[in-house]
Amino acid sequence: MTRHFSIRLLLAGLLALAAGGFLNAQQSKWAPDPKQPVDEDYTKKIKEYTTAPYFLSPLVDYLPASKTVPTPRAIIGDIAGAPGKLPYSAQIHEYMRMLEKASPRVKVISVGKSEEGREMIAVAIADAALIARLGENTSRLAKLADPRTIKLDDAEADRLVAASTPIYYITGALHSPETGSPTALMELAYRLAVDEAPYIKAIRSNVITMMTPVVEVDGRDRQADIYNWHLAHPKDNWPPLIYWGKYLVHDNNRDAMGATLALTKNVINFFVDQNVQLLHDLHESVPYLYDNTVGDGPYNAWVDPILADEWQLLGWNNMSEMTKFGMPGAFAHGQFDTWSPGYLMFIAAMHNGTSRLYETFGNGGADTVERTLRPGEYARTWYRQNPPLPKAMWSQRNNNNYTQTGLLTSLSYYAANNKLFLKNFYLKAKRSVLKAKTEGPAAYVFPADDPHPGLQADLLRVLQTQRCEISRATAPFTVTLPAKKKSSRPSDDAPGNDQGKPADQKKDEKAPEIRQFPAGTFIVRMDQPYSRIADALLDYQYWSPSDPQKNPYDDTGWTFGELFNVQVVRVTDAKVLEAAMQPVKGEVKAQGTVNGLGTVYAVNHDTDPRLIALRYRLKDVAFEAAEEPFEAAGRKFNRGSFLLKGSQAADIQKVAEELGLQVHALALAPTVKTHQVKVPRIGYVHTWLGTQDEGWWRLALDNLKIPYDYISTQTVAKTPNLNAKYDVILFPPVGRSAQQVIAGMPMWGNPLPWKKTELTPNIGNEDSTDDMRPGLGWEGVARLEGFVRNGGLLITTDDTTDLAVTYGLTQGVALQRSQRLKAPGAVVRSRFVDLASPIAYGYDENLSVYLSEGVILSVSNTLGGRGGRFGGDTGRPTGRGTVDDPDMPQGRVFQEPPADPKVEPWQATPVTDEQLRNGINVIPVQQRPRVILRYSDARDLLVSGLLDGGSEIAQRPAVIDVPLSKGHVILFSPNPVWRGETKGSYSLVFNAILNFDNLDAGRKFDDR
Ligand SMILES: [Zn+2]
Repeated sequence: MTRHFSIRLLLAGLLALAAGGFLNAQQSKWAPDPKQPVDEDYTKKIKEYTTAPYFLSPLVDYLPASKTVPTPRAIIGDIAGAPGKLPYSAQIHEYMRMLEKASPRVKVISVGKSEEGREMIAVAIADAALIARLGENTSRLAKLADPRTIKLDDAEADRLVAASTPIYYITGALHSPETGSPTALMELAYRLAVDEAPYIKAIRSNVITMMTPVVEVDGRDRQADIYNWHLAHPKDNWPPLIYWGKYLVHDNNRDAMGATLALTKNVINFFVDQNVQLLHDLHESVPYLYDNTVGDGPYNAWVDPILADEWQLLGWNNMSEMTKFGMPGAFAHGQFDTWSPGYLMFIAAMHNGTSRLYETFGNGGADTVERTLRPGEYARTWYRQNPPLPKAMWSQRNNNNYTQTGLLTSLSYYAANNKLFLKNFYLKAKRSVLKAKTEGPAAYVFPADDPHPGLQADLLRVLQTQRCEISRATAPFTVTLPAKKKSSRPSDDAPGNDQGKPADQKKDEKAPEIRQFPAGTFIVRMDQPYSRIADALLDYQYWSPSDPQKNPYDDTGWTFGELFNVQVVRVTDAKVLEAAMQPVKGEVKAQGTVNGLGTVYAVNHDTDPRLIALRYRLKDVAFEAAEEPFEAAGRKFNRGSFLLKGSQAADIQKVAEELGLQVHALALAPTVKTHQVKVPRIGYVHTWLGTQDEGWWRLALDNLKIPYDYISTQTVAKTPNLNAKYDVILFPPVGRSAQQVIAGMPMWGNPLPWKKTELTPNIGNEDSTDDMRPGLGWEGVARLEGFVRNGGLLITTDDTTDLAVTYGLTQGVALQRSQRLKAPGAVVRSRFVDLASPIAYGYDENLSVYLSEGVILSVSNTLGGRGGRFGGDTGRPTGRGTVDDPDMPQGRVFQEPPADPKVEPWQATPVTDEQLRNGINVIPVQQRPRVILRYSDARDLLVSGLLDGGSEIAQRPAVIDVPLSKGHVILFSPNPVWRGETKGSYSLVFNAILNFDNLDAGRKFDDR
């Protein structure tokens, strides 16, 4: 033993002493009240169900006893986090109401109902005096939330801050397979109501804790069913939770922009009505507690910097406390970027509050099992000095310990700094009001003469759902719009049309524009408390391809005006705020009327999604679609406009008013070529593999009340004559490969039922099966092909497009997966190639679409050809003359070679004489693919978000109509129905449905 070594030992001893002293100080900070009795039995169970002492903290290693307030045992039959116990939402709510009855410190507030009618609740916990005067506190907070009410008076704000208590709102079980938060919150509610530890008393007096133990109430009950099935079949594999809520699975945490789900609307309204300061959303996926409050860059560009600072304060402090408890695997930072405002927690970030999110570690149920982590999960990193263990026995109780410990330390810190956060809340609100004149813009303007009034109203209603105020101009007004800057975007390496043609600089340098807007124009003022959410949704996004963050966590672009195909003018001229205007009371709605007199009714096609609803609502009225634009009653009607004939004037009036559509009664039918618009019978196909992406389609159809049969790929395979039942089959994206859709799940192991039984009463509402495993199969592919050949229309997107192309339903179409393209949820520009196609009815030349690494398509006039220009043009060969001259063999008479036809990347190469000599593979002209929409040229492809390698998809077909015998397959490359954000492209799908038997209308056939 060397001297060297003994000094090290001595040092280690000193350090240990210091650490011990420190720990004692920490323990005293969190010490329980020695006078309060402990629930010995409950405490014993906590220790029993926790798999190792370091998975427990001094905050939750005991439960205080109460003579009057029941513990979670009263409902669960065991302690919170006990193995084998997963209570239903109603049981969880029942417990919270028991707490309310037993303690003046607890109050239950109803938050709203889910799509399936289940209740969402919030539980408020604080000192009895605070709970008794919750209303008074809320009205003070309301003044801080809207500083205009106190004329932005900081001194008055300080008085309000001094008199008020902030609200810390915790939300659990948004993601149904993440099962731990409800029991953690049941026990936390009990502790906050009962525990007399000094630090808990401080929380109770200085913060009003509110919690929604289950956000996705429908999904929670299905998950509890599945877990009970698993307990009853312990040796079997259990069915995956294919449905969480009625429509969505994990994307229920991507709805905070479009706000389409009941749960999102409920949380927005609760947050705003209660004037909440902080929203802390609980998730499970990362071992053992990842506080992604700090997150990673890029941060959302529209949040107040004060919020970004709060994230640091809360996140680092929280983890610094957790580190001292010695609990492994508690860390902040990590790879989650904070760019998209689509997460539920971002309701707080966009409404002047503070957003937070935990990922703890769950077992997807309440089994205690050994969990083995991946090296990336247990590695020590600079921000995770005490990483999770590579292997550990893990229980739901461990998970509950982490969640509660994290929350209690957070609440304690928040209580100690409650006035700081309350003042910040006011400052953020004030800066949101001042935004119009500081960073701007002053307002967003929606012109009254927008040709898409229905879509405009839809977008304004999204803002109203976000609780933004909308105003309407009562007189025309003018503003100065800044000169458009010359684009500094580097030209792409595309082989595109415009390549090498430098933009005419003089054309780009425009002078400032004076623009007049008519009376009736909508104005979203930026001098209101919720200006930030409007700005974030309506502005453009740019994510640099060289951003250090290489893995965007979610969509990078979402510009709502573009995706709704609505004019939105960003106005920086503060004069706009002086325009004569009035606040809009009630929901913005396009006006629906019937004008004129006559028995022919014309409805302009302006791509309003409600046009399809009109057809289904008036199913007994004869509808025709005009194949050309026309004029009647002194106005212009777009191609595709409806002509209704019939005597049901009262019905037409009623439905037009309800839908907000303008109907023009004409004395005479206009002379224009028309075709009949039937009421198509729709089959809507889903798989048993995933319902995430299709859920957005279902939601869109249901909102418009479009009837359809919801059938699985198994039903398709078993239905001999699909044509007898359906005119149109919609096959929305699955999120799986074509091969998987056909194969289904592996057939080994036990059957996986998805159906309503006594044991699983909440399962099988949408669709049911005795066994989820079988897929579409070859039989199903054959049925779909037969359906199309017999005159049906099949509509596919992304991976189902892949399926249709790969398995031979679309002659003359080739498909590639991208190699270089990077478009993780971006907005891109597209152009119509064939405006005469019924699919294009109502559209102008350009359309912004949502793209997320879409399939790359090309068309060909021959079978087996790759079509388009996958190979690329090689130019002239080496020889005599200049680059534009022909080569000229010497010693013979020169023969001029035939001119090469100019073929664009979205077009098919004309058939050659050589191919026609024995034209076995030449597709007859009537059966060739028809490209309707293409992606724009590389240089102007990007609208919003991150786009790299765009030349790979630039100019490629985006929507193709492929005839097959008597029917059609319509292939989408971009997803036209996404997250309630893409209403501008919905009509591409609806047009196809309505014109399923006249898709060749307006088609011009090539000679070759
Ligand atoms: Zn989650």
